[in-house]
Amino acid sequence: MSENTKTDLNKELFLLEPEALNACVSCGLCLPYCPTYRVTGDERMSPRGRIALMRSIGSKEFDPTDEWIHSMDTCVQCRGCETACPSAVPFGELISDTKKALASVRKLPLAVRIGLLILNKPRLLAGATFLIGILQKLGFMRNSSYIPSGVPLLRREFKTTHSSVDPVLFTGCVMEAWTPWVHTAALKTLAFFGVNVATSGKRVGCCGALHEHSGLRSVSVKMAENVIDAMPTTGPVLVNSAGCGAMLKEYGKLLGTEKAKRFSERVFDVHEWIANNFELPKKSEKKERIVVQDPCHLRHVQNSHQYVREVLSPFVEIVELPDEGLCCGAGGAFSVSQKKLATEIRKLKSMAFEEVNTKGSKYRVVSANPGCVTHLQVEGFEIKHPLEVVAEYVNQISESDEMGKF
Ligand code: SF4
Ligand code: SF4
Repeated sequence: MSENTKTDLNKELFLLEPEALNACVSCGLCLPYCPTYRVTGDERMSPRGRIALMRSIGSKEFDPTDEWIHSMDTCVQCRGCETACPSAVPFGELISDTKKALASVRKLPLAVRIGLLILNKPRLLAGATFLIGILQKLGFMRNSSYIPSGVPLLRREFKTTHSSVDPVLFTGCVMEAWTPWVHTAALKTLAFFGVNVATSGKRVGCCGALHEHSGLRSVSVKMAENVIDAMPTTGPVLVNSAGCGAMLKEYGKLLGTEKAKRFSERVFDVHEWIANNFELPKKSEKKERIVVQDPCHLRHVQNSHQYVREVLSPFVEIVELPDEGLCCGAGGAFSVSQKKLATEIRKLKSMAFEEVNTKGSKYRVVSANPGCVTHLQVEGFEIKHPLEVVAEYVNQISESDEMGKF
């Protein structure tokens, strides 16, 4: 890194909040919850180590060595450390601002730049989707950590009507293009509760979460403004991707405007909204056991993971993982930019899945984030979005009600 680049980086990083950095008392209680520390045992790969390195910023001796940069680059931004921290260190803000500073002085890996560009261009995304769909059909492309199997050839629009007080389902970019069946499941589940819901569709597009995650703050701000302007100004905004939901809920903080704050107040995870507004069916005699894997952005950022359990529990018996919400390693673009670490972290999660599977049975797993689902499927487990499972059961109830009329 040239001297000029170092100076620029130092200037950018100097803006990190000293109060936030000083809030850390180095107790180390966060260490067992940090996936990168768990797989490396290296203090520089822990929240405490990263904060110590951030504290050197601003001093004349500060030298952003490759080691310093690697420590920051390898943070998954899962925010498991925030949940564990008794001193309320806002680690998410610190690492997010650090990634922004790094992105301002150097280029992201090419694969990440291409991926982020495609997300921001609906026509490019449609073209890439078509190509991937063809390659999968011809057998040239298998399921990977980034691309699910069965990508539809054409991006479809959901046709729904709504009034100004009805909720809108935010359908996003990749999820609408590659896993539209999850949106179908959300619409079926909401219809079961009598909800008339519109979908955001192509005109709204990407929320900018992966861009923010990669430090591209000016791009994510622009995308946040676009989403707010393109969405209806009234009614709840429902989201079924934990990462997108966390981003939409943080638009208020990101943009700092009254308009963005009012928008964020209208954003709910689908499970959260159903659990808080409807009487759930009576608990059935449960047969199927389902393992719940919490996406970090639902558990540590939105603190809404309990609603997934509430909405599932009338239909299935829930099996908890023995890892207290440890990250799976997907982490936005992390599985692309830090493939080796992401794979090692995923192995830890697989071990947790194996631990709850008894007598050789493999329970289905649910995870409310498409990135986690795709990342984990590579290990050979059957992983669904929770709403796909709920939709299966509410369909059965609806069908038996129909039968009862005859
Ligand atoms: S955000 Fe996650 S990966 Fe980063 S330091 Fe905290 S616990 Fe570790
Ligand atoms: S971040 Fe919080 S939990 Fe971790 S060492 Fe600092 S004070 Fe302790």
